[in-house]
Parts: sequence; structure tokens; C-alpha cells
Amino acid sequence: MQKYTIVIHGGAGTILKEDMTPELEAAYTEGLQQALDAGYAVLEEGGSAVNAVKAAVVVMEDNILFNAGRGSVFTKKGVNEMDAALMDGATLDAGAVAGVRNVRNPILLANEVLLHSNHVLLCGKGANDFAIKQGVKLEPDEYFFSQFRYDQWKAIRDTDDYQLDHTHEDMEELMKDKKFGTVGAVACDKDGNIAAATSTGGMTNKKYGRIGDSPIIGSGTYANNNTCAISCTGHGEKFMKAVTAYDISALMEYKRFSLEEASKEVVMNKLVKMEGEGGIIGVDAQGNVAMVFNSIGMYRGFKSSDGSNQIGIYG
Ligand code: ASP
Repeated sequence: MQKYTIVIHGGAGTILKEDMTPELEAAYTEGLQQALDAGYAVLEEGGSAVNAVKAAVVVMEDNILFNAGRGSVFTKKGVNEMDAALMDGATLDAGAVAGVRNVRNPILLANEVLLHSNHVLLCGKGANDFAIKQGVKLEPDEYFFSQFRYDQWKAIRDTDDYQLDHTHEDMEELMKDKKFGTVGAVACDKDGNIAAATSTGGMTNKKYGRIGDSPIIGSGTYANNNTCAISCTGHGEKFMKAVTAYDISALMEYKRFSLEEASKEVVMNKLVKMEGEGGIIGVDAQGNVAMVFNSIGMYRGFKSSDGSNQIGIYG
């Protein structure tokens, strides 16, 4: 019988148990479990992998703990600009948005791009115009405000620094204590179709319309039934240069690597050499799961039809 499974991440980085309060750890665990349950419920009812990854990501976009949707970080100008992508491994159809504002669930806008735009990637004001045309839910700026992200941004807004999502205030501390708060999901459904979704607020204090790897098909997000579905989290510039998600797929397609072998080769070898910190989640059409990261920790979990349900935070 076809195994169906959902895998999620909520970002990778230097996530240490000693930095975590029991309350925060419980809140993250609960947030991850809610996302897993939402995605798994879709699969259990016979829904598609695409709908499952969307459902899981929406739950994390609505959770202020994660750097995506509601909890997105602030840009240099003190606003939230979000990126998201969705790819269907059965058809290779893809939809993505970059630098969008006030969109409650950027992953649902990426879905509209996939279904109704004849394009793959829309950005900025044009993407927002498309959101209005498609009736995608918008929210006022206040919806995206969180004191924690605001304080992060306030500490560096008068500098040229930009930061990956983290909890410490100065750059030196940051380099010791990087955290990436992007969210993602990959799934394999009852028909053996797979899909990938990623959503992020990007980097604190980013400017000039900076866009990371998340909405770039092949870099932060990729799905192909013949190989794998991958969602990445980490230092976007490095992940783009490594064409990370597609590289894992290519090793499976051309070198016949397993999902686990291909993921380890790219994350633990290639990216490490490039100093590309972060991780990936992956699934193949048999429902095999990969959760590989070269950072200290990664918020992650998976739930499968064989009864397994796991959540992890630390290495
Ligand atoms: N990869 C994301 C970016 O560079 C950041 C993250 O994963 O947290 O925009």
C-alpha cells in the first residue's frame, strides 16, 4: 500500500536547549504538531500532496512564532515583505511570489499564481495587484507586528547590517547564534504524488528588494514525482548559488542516489564547503523522509500513514 506522509520545517540555525524556556519549547512543539496535523488530515482524506503542504504552511504562517506570514521579520523600511513558493511534483507546475506585502497567507497567493497566472513568479506591487484580483485575503500592517521581531529590527535599523532571523541583538552574537525562521512542507499523498511549499519573511533589515532562495524554484523549493520534493531553510544567498533543492533532485535523477544520500551529499558536503548554513526537508514518491541540516538545530517533524509522528528541534 502506498505510504503517505507529511514533513515540515520551521527554520534552522543555532537552536540550543539552554536558550529555550520550557514554555517556548512547548509553544514551538505545539505549533509544529498543529501544522503536521493539518497537512496529515488532508492526506488521510485522500487529498493531494499540494493541498496538504498548503494546509501545513498556512498553519505556520498564521503562527507568530515563525518568520513567515504573520510573524515575518521587518525590512530596512520597517515593513514586512514576504516570499513563498509551491510546486506540484506530478505536473511540475509551480507558483511563487516575492516581496509581497499585507498578504495574510503568501502560500495561497503562490497557489493562485500556479493555477491562474500563466506565470511562475510574480513580485512586489504586481503580485499584490494579482492578490487583490484573485480575492486573496489581505491584512493591515498591524496584523504583522510582533514586539520580538520589531526589537530585533530596531537594534540594527540604523546600520547597513541585515540579519537572518535570530534572537540576539549584535552581529557578533548573531554569527554565533544564527536562526532561520522560514517555514516549509513536503508531502507524498495516497496516489504517490509529491509536492513542496516554502514561505518566509526573509531577513531582518533586508533592503533593495532583497529576495532569498525560498521563492526560487530549484533553489529553496522543488518537486518532481520522479525524484523528490524539497523545501529549504538557511542562508538564502548560499542556497541559491548551490541551487540546493534541484541539486538533490539531480543527484537522484542522474546518479541514482537515494533521497537520503542525495540530501546528505548536498547539505553536509557541498553546502558546508560553501559555508551555507541550514537544512532541508524532503520526501520521495515512496513516502521516504529526509530531514538533514548542518546547523545546530532545525524545527522539524513528520507524520506518516505507518503511524510515525516525530517532532524535533535540536541536533
Ligand atoms: N532561506 C531564507 C532566506 O534566505 C531564510 C530562512 O530560511 O530563514 O530568505
